[in-house]
Amino acid sequence: MNAAPDSPRLTLVALSGVRVREAELAELGMSLPGLGPRGAAIAALPPLGVLTLAGMTPDDWAISLHEAAVVDDGLVQRIVREQPTLVGISALTASILEAYTLADALRREGVRVVLGGLHVTACPDEAMRHADAVVVGDGEPVWPQVLEDARRGALRPLYKPDMPFDMRAAPLPRYDLLGSAKRQRFTMQASRGCPFACDFCAASRLLGPFRRKPADRLREELRAITAIDPKPAIELADDNTFALGGPHDDLLDALGESNARWFTEADWRLGENPAVLERLAECGCVQVLVGLESLVHQHAGMGAKKTEMPRMLDALRAMQAAGVAVIGCYIVGSDGEDEASLDRLIEFLQHDPCADAQVTLQTPFPGTALRRRLEHEGRLLPDTNWSHCTLFDVTYQPDRMTPEALQAGYARVLISAFDESAHRRRSAIRRETWRNNPRMRA
Ligand code: SF4
Repeated sequence: MNAAPDSPRLTLVALSGVRVREAELAELGMSLPGLGPRGAAIAALPPLGVLTLAGMTPDDWAISLHEAAVVDDGLVQRIVREQPTLVGISALTASILEAYTLADALRREGVRVVLGGLHVTACPDEAMRHADAVVVGDGEPVWPQVLEDARRGALRPLYKPDMPFDMRAAPLPRYDLLGSAKRQRFTMQASRGCPFACDFCAASRLLGPFRRKPADRLREELRAITAIDPKPAIELADDNTFALGGPHDDLLDALGESNARWFTEADWRLGENPAVLERLAECGCVQVLVGLESLVHQHAGMGAKKTEMPRMLDALRAMQAAGVAVIGCYIVGSDGEDEASLDRLIEFLQHDPCADAQVTLQTPFPGTALRRRLEHEGRLLPDTNWSHCTLFDVTYQPDRMTPEALQAGYARVLISAFDESAHRRRSAIRRETWRNNPRMRA
């Protein structure tokens, strides 16, 4: 930190990395050629939430950033030595207990701590037991007040905006805090929220309605990123980028003017939207993650995304014909799942058309309709806690199998979907898809 000695000091901590509780599964994930590299890429994504809050922190504050894969005494001491006026910690559900451990340790040393993020928004009372203040919902509207109160030594226990953040006022994230090490990917947000309400999804519900960031803000962020890396790879930290159909020309123009290759998340209807589809590749889009969710089970709240698999697959083929590789995303363990349905998924994943796949276990995150239902039915496993909410560990009693059978069946699906031959097959699809993508040929 370079600032006057009497400047207020803000220390931001993002708990990074992918977590897996089940030791055998963690080992398996590392060893499968189709899985390890993607896990590493996700683990290394820049922490956009805290970079954004740093971007709206007044200039007279000195700011430091810690991206921490583990919480240990060394991390605590490094932070204490900075003598921060305030420490802001952001963590996902799987790492929230580590965030609480860190917050407790810092507070014992007399350091003030504010916690925020999705998990804290869903469980503010729990988080308040470990922090001087918690932020519920969008952080941007209340952040200036949090800083002002911290500076005066008068933090309130809870900060909650009266209304969702207006993306027209989006600050420029402080990408410069990431340091000089080369980043595989940068993160940037073009929209927040989703008009659907899939029962397993927390991200789309907890932070307000679907909103888009104006193109002038996006251009400013792209300029900041390309000043660091002239040909960056960018992951849009959106819930469902093209959710409302369009027009999306502003977004595509802004991204197309940059040299970026970009990745995002969308629902399958993108493949039935020719106005967007025909511009995607020329504007730098190289990959889209699409939630197909399940071969046989349809989730409550999927809205217009709910349809039959053949129609979704045609839409995915259209995306790939347009030069954009699709990561087909599946959730294992919904009610109705059994050994036979897992076998059908294994068979399907050996022949599906997608250039990549993502297969996770159904996970009842706090704040979701799924968790409320399983809780009501008494099906949450008693010997699990938030650290099991990794997307890779079973946390509830399935309706047609034992938890152990689901965990073992999930491992079977992973092996078949990401082993050497699956990896070769999908690599060939990617190469073929990207033949039609000018940004991948450049
Ligand atoms: S479509 Fe995606 S982002 Fe939207 S609610 Fe469903 S899972 Fe969440």
